[in-house]
Amino acid sequence: MCALTQPGAIMPNAIVPDATIPERHPAAMARIVMKFGGTSVADLDRIRIVADRVAREVEAGHEVAVVTSAMAGATNQLVAWCQALAPLHDAREYDVVLATGEQAVTGLLAIALQTRGIEARSWQGWQIPIRTDGAHGRARITAIDGAEIIRRMQIGQVAVVSGFQGLGPDNRVTTLGRGGSDTSAVALAAAIGADRCDIYTDVDGIYTTDPRIVPRARKLDRIAYEEMLELASVGAKVLHTRSVELAMNHRVRVRVLSSFADASDDNQGTLVVDEDEIVEKQIVSGIAYSRDEAKITLRQVPDRPGIAAAIFTALAAHHVNIDMIVQNISADGSTDLTFTVGRADLARARATLAEAQPQIGYLEIVADANVAKISVVGTGMRSHAGVANTMFRALADKAINIQVISTSEIKVSVLIAADYAELAVRALHTAYGLDA
Ligand code: ASP
Ligand code: MG
Repeated sequence: MCALTQPGAIMPNAIVPDATIPERHPAAMARIVMKFGGTSVADLDRIRIVADRVAREVEAGHEVAVVTSAMAGATNQLVAWCQALAPLHDAREYDVVLATGEQAVTGLLAIALQTRGIEARSWQGWQIPIRTDGAHGRARITAIDGAEIIRRMQIGQVAVVSGFQGLGPDNRVTTLGRGGSDTSAVALAAAIGADRCDIYTDVDGIYTTDPRIVPRARKLDRIAYEEMLELASVGAKVLHTRSVELAMNHRVRVRVLSSFADASDDNQGTLVVDEDEIVEKQIVSGIAYSRDEAKITLRQVPDRPGIAAAIFTALAAHHVNIDMIVQNISADGSTDLTFTVGRADLARARATLAEAQPQIGYLEIVADANVAKISVVGTGMRSHAGVANTMFRALADKAINIQVISTSEIKVSVLIAADYAELAVRALHTAYGLDA
């Protein structure tokens, strides 16, 4: 069993030492995991195209395992059926229902591969098994036994594995949360010691920003895990965030590329790799934006020890996630405290704070959902000064007011009025020299 580090856990790589992962067949070129998303397997024609793509890698001499999503829209349909029967349904049965979308595709793809003369077989999460915790509907992978898959790859069999599913501690079917099949693919790649995990999707790579906003956005050849994590969590929804955490923890080389491009096209996609593998480092690699946040200001909060603890303990108890926080110095024994929460949590946050008003003792709550968070991300910031300043100057030149600022080692984020989000992204894209 290969124990997988829980994303976010500060454990060292808990994966089994490399020596225990059998070597690939001496003649094999590389061991690769190919993952196909819902739009890539949306119908039989697409599944045939996927089979051709897999066949090419097999014919090139690679050992191949395939991970698939359900057909585009299938999982939504399954969710709707559960909800139609009972809005508050048993999460264990919900997982049983949702896991069928992937199961169907693995069988179909195995058949399509067999008609191409390739020895293929389907694998469901429980058959491998892909072990998860018991959090139905959003389970985390805890361990994968890759031994049998490796053994069969070595004799030329292609494993077609259902993404998104696992087996809980009580041997019931679990699912990993929407979009989770990316995570299945990366975890499998780690467990079988794959050289690469190719994630085929409907975009041809990771861009410097959303090309719908900035037509001159550029496709990146390479991006560091940490940058990708920041970009994923702030709105560039190409990869499931947990898949990037896993890739980073286990050093899995991930390639994001299009399943729609012709084989003849230059379709190298974007490699998500360790920072050290990026030779031409950009100071800023990408600009992300998110409209999913809302701003809350507590006016005239008493300025004394324990107040911040009281506020954020109450919010945490109601599962409200906090992102940016600013607090002013106080002139008269009270201060204003501003922070952001997920927009979907705004009502719950307000109710929680209203209830805790007697303990906290603030004067009033001011909430604003009409905000956007814009972030510039780049590992080059570690070694370059003036990155934030360029951002502030570019926004000032467009007369865009900054409401809240937060920074990390490789990211500067600002909160601005939502109406200016696109203008800000375009201005920053130019200011950091990212325009194609
Ligand atoms: N089929 C699942 C979903 O739609 C998992 C995935 O596609 O990644 O969320
Ligand atoms: Mg996806």
